[in-house]
Amino acid sequence: MTHLWWARRDLRLHDNPALLEAQADGPFAAVAAWTPPLHFWSGRRRAHLARSLWSLREDTGGALAVRRGDAADVVVGAAREADARVVWATREFSPSGVAEQDAVAAALEDDGRELRLHGSPYAVAPGRVVKGDGTPYKVYTPFLDAWRQHGWRRPADPADPAGFTALDSKDDVAVDLDQIAAHGDAEDAIEPRHEFREERLIAALEDFIDGDVGSYAEDRDRPDLDATSHLSTALAFGQIHARTVLALLAPLRSDGSRVFQAELAWREFHADTLWNAPQARRESLTPVLDEKDWETGRDADDAFKAWRDGRTGFPLVDAGMRQLAQTGWMHNRVRMVVASFLVKDLRLPWQRGADHFRRTLVDYDHAQNQLNWQWVAGTGRDASPFFRIFNPHAQLERFDPHQRYVQRWIPELDTPEYPEPMLDHKAERETTLRLHKQAKARR
Ligand SMILES: Cc1cc2nc3c(=O)[nH]c(=O)nc-3n(C[C@H](O)[C@H](O)[C@H](O)COP(=O)(O)OP(=O)(O)OC[C@H]3O[C@@H](n4cnc5c(N)ncnc54)[C@H](O)[C@@H]3O)c2cc1C
Repeated sequence: MTHLWWARRDLRLHDNPALLEAQADGPFAAVAAWTPPLHFWSGRRRAHLARSLWSLREDTGGALAVRRGDAADVVVGAAREADARVVWATREFSPSGVAEQDAVAAALEDDGRELRLHGSPYAVAPGRVVKGDGTPYKVYTPFLDAWRQHGWRRPADPADPAGFTALDSKDDVAVDLDQIAAHGDAEDAIEPRHEFREERLIAALEDFIDGDVGSYAEDRDRPDLDATSHLSTALAFGQIHARTVLALLAPLRSDGSRVFQAELAWREFHADTLWNAPQARRESLTPVLDEKDWETGRDADDAFKAWRDGRTGFPLVDAGMRQLAQTGWMHNRVRMVVASFLVKDLRLPWQRGADHFRRTLVDYDHAQNQLNWQWVAGTGRDASPFFRIFNPHAQLERFDPHQRYVQRWIPELDTPEYPEPMLDHKAERETTLRLHKQAKARR
């Protein structure tokens, strides 16, 4: 009897407990499903997934099968072919991931087989860190303390790349990864491509931890310096596990390593929040304005387009939106500034901005995106207070003091072609705060 590993958001051979379990009893096969919902992904993210799967298949000597279809059909089909009674996979915690694993578990059971979920994409699985009374934390700082106290396991041993048995498919529904990788780029080009090979990602992480993490505490908010890890895409696709990163940080005592660890805890906190409040994927957890106060209609659409295209006349906002369009990534500080601008200067609902990020970020991660948007919008549980409205000029002076970042992304910045500011920040700030006060008084 063989086991089967169903590869999901854990596309790696290192530190992968579900994969280790699959290979623990001898021969095992591996499959990934190229599912219909991927049709709704952006081309750039689909291309990145195709490359990551391609690379993992290379690393397994070509044994990883990638097949088109619903996850349940693909996994049951592969389990039959491998004669596997047990299928191992990493447990998901997002609403769509949970629905998917439930469907696969039911289909396998109907077929006389079993899905065993093991591990998670987090150092500490959502739902584990709870207050003394067993309820979830709603505020980040006490969560961080409790999360540190809870601790996490050491990384799992690397899987044996030679241990995979290839599935010998007759009715071939294999996915042409080469073609998807290229086509995704052709229709939705970004430059540079995000690294997708596991070995290189680990090497880049080690470089970062040996070097830049030392100055991370001081420099991480400076978009002009490239002082962050760029780890988000690898974490989103599961090519590196958070536990691996934490283990590399463990011997270090610098402020930078401590702050970096705390940033990873934000990722865990947001996942925990979404797990406990799945409605947060679309609904504000804390309302901030009355429904009628949000802008709608043609003017709102035009304003959204100016924001989306990086033509607001606010250099830090425009540089960020252009970086996102061209590279599929944006610096965290600038993500906060553009999000605040959309919600609090343009008074557009955060969901509109979050949808645009879903279409453009390569590191898109449902929990991180929705909950970070809610944090900036002031609608989350532990949100930055609604009255904290980023001033795009002050942020530019503080975090891009030599204007290198904005000049890099806006070549026409100092020419007449660059638009005048589309609004008066001070006036919009006052209006938004007044509307917020009125809405609060009515509640
Ligand atoms: C509006 C908005 C939307 C966002 N959408 C996403 C998203 O879809 N996917 C995503 O991975 N991150 C998202 N973030 C969080 C953050 O901006 C990115 O994780 C970070 O910029 C990625 O760059 P890095 O890996 O170089 O970060 P580093 O500064 O090197 O941080 C290391 C890691 O810590 C974690 N981290 C850092 N900041 C945050 C944060 N605020 N929230 C959660 N985790 C964090 C990430 O996993 C990151 O890779 C969003 C932030 C905002 C304000």
